[in-house]
Amino acid sequence: MKNFQTLMVLTYWHCNLFGENEAGEAHSQSLNSNFFKKRRPCRYPFTHLTVRSDGKVVVCCADWLKETCYGNVMDHSLDELWNSRSLYDFRCRMLNYRGADISCCRGCEIPYRDTPEDDLSDFPVERLSYTNNF
Ligand code: SF4
Repeated sequence: MKNFQTLMVLTYWHCNLFGENEAGEAHSQSLNSNFFKKRRPCRYPFTHLTVRSDGKVVVCCADWLKETCYGNVMDHSLDELWNSRSLYDFRCRMLNYRGADISCCRGCEIPYRDTPEDDLSDFPVERLSYTNNF
């Protein structure tokens, strides 16, 4: 409950700091620009996972529709999910600049806000692996 309250405070703070209309307008403009046509690899599938309230695990908290769901904590441990074939495939798509194929990633600006040391553009796909075949 405490974490939920923290999230609500942060959301409130974010909306008041940036303004909902202003943020929505900036997001629409960015979707319509050429800026996102080439998808920079996003580090989130390599550094985060998000467990939704029904136990489904998705690559990040920006995936409201659970499009990137690759398992459920009711069925597998977090370690099994983190090393799953499904997440491996997702990571490969990111490194192969196919993030634009994923609708929740297509207009997401988060990778462009990362610092240079978070840039995965040159990370070799051959270094990826998985241990669980689901
Ligand atoms: S591009 Fe955005 S929506 Fe896609 S995994 Fe990264 S942070 Fe999440």
